[in-house]
Amino acid sequence: MSNQLIIENVNKHFGAVHVVKHVNLSIPEGKLVCFLGPSGCGKTTLLRMIAGLETPTSGRLSMDGKDLTHVPACERDFGMVFQSLALFPHMTVAGNIAYPLRLRKTDKQSQKRRVDELLQLIQLPHMADRPVAQLSGGQRQRVAIARALASAPKLLLLDEPLSALDAKLREAMQVEIRLLQQRLGITTIMVTHDQREAMTMADVIVVMEQGQIAQVGSPLEVYRDPVNEFVADFIGLGNILPAVPNGEQRVRLAGGQLIDIGGARKASAGQDIRLLIRPEDVCLKISEAQAHQDLHASIHNNCIPGQVSFIRDVGSSLEATIDCAGFTLTVATSPREVPGLAIGSPVLATLPPHACKLIDASPGRLAA
Ligand code: ATP
Repeated sequence: MSNQLIIENVNKHFGAVHVVKHVNLSIPEGKLVCFLGPSGCGKTTLLRMIAGLETPTSGRLSMDGKDLTHVPACERDFGMVFQSLALFPHMTVAGNIAYPLRLRKTDKQSQKRRVDELLQLIQLPHMADRPVAQLSGGQRQRVAIARALASAPKLLLLDEPLSALDAKLREAMQVEIRLLQQRLGITTIMVTHDQREAMTMADVIVVMEQGQIAQVGSPLEVYRDPVNEFVADFIGLGNILPAVPNGEQRVRLAGGQLIDIGGARKASAGQDIRLLIRPEDVCLKISEAQAHQDLHASIHNNCIPGQVSFIRDVGSSLEATIDCAGFTLTVATSPREVPGLAIGSPVLATLPPHACKLIDASPGRLAA
């Protein structure tokens, strides 16, 4: 039978505050699903309800067709890793990993076998007898994951497990956890507010805003086809420009520039919309014109004149801010593509029609 977790119309109130609102979601078996959203949007509360550490005010949770809504955490058979890790510092690595097995009164021999297996899995077999207090941050992280996996849970729940680590170790651990999850094929839900982390690790991203689900999709779907301005802004860098429909295939930007938007979505008059174009989709070239060129000059082929106001060149990539009439654009390119680009350079920024997306300005369904 399928181990799919199903969440049906789950709500949570803390007193008068409605923190998780009408959440419907199914967590596909064997996948890594990230709950992503800004601080306070309800990610942790939703995860804690899945764990059994909070009870939903209303709604239903089920797995294998079995109602879980009121099953206590200790009977759910889920592994958990929290931000704090909650390891026992005085205990050894092996002792920490064996802890849940001891609670279950697993026999000594099976405990030893399982701990050895997990030590191999997290590549720390030589550290079995070391007290946890003497481990590095990354090693502690691995021990916490091994402990969560000890009793072969059906579901692994991770609440910001990497947030205490420095940037480099954090990135390494993202890859390590993802590889481990794929190798074991264990269904995993991870809470994070870091969109890069979610993009790196997830099969499915659940973007949350103010207790509601704003969008569910693969990392590429939410990046390429965000449902609204909130998602577009939260996932990656984006140019989100106020736009007014001008016929079915064109919009007018704040500086009066008419932009062909291709056939992806028709704009109809009166809609409150934004034009989204990702920085890597804008084509940049240095203009032959003088720096004092007229930024209001009429444009052709979605090619907008502008002037560079800021450059972040990190060697492998270059990010430039371009002042155009009425708005600024962020452009991501490679230093080799635009040699000689400098602050003050007059440029032409082309917005290819196929890369222009129209999105709703106000997240309509979240407005209620
Ligand atoms: P963060 O990334 O900051 O952890 P989050 O998205 O995980 O945020 P939650 O921790 O789920 O958000 O909190 C959602 C809202 O519910 C917040 O406004 C928080 O203050 C409130 N909240 C959470 N737990 C409780 C509680 N036990 N009692 C009252 N309010 C709570």
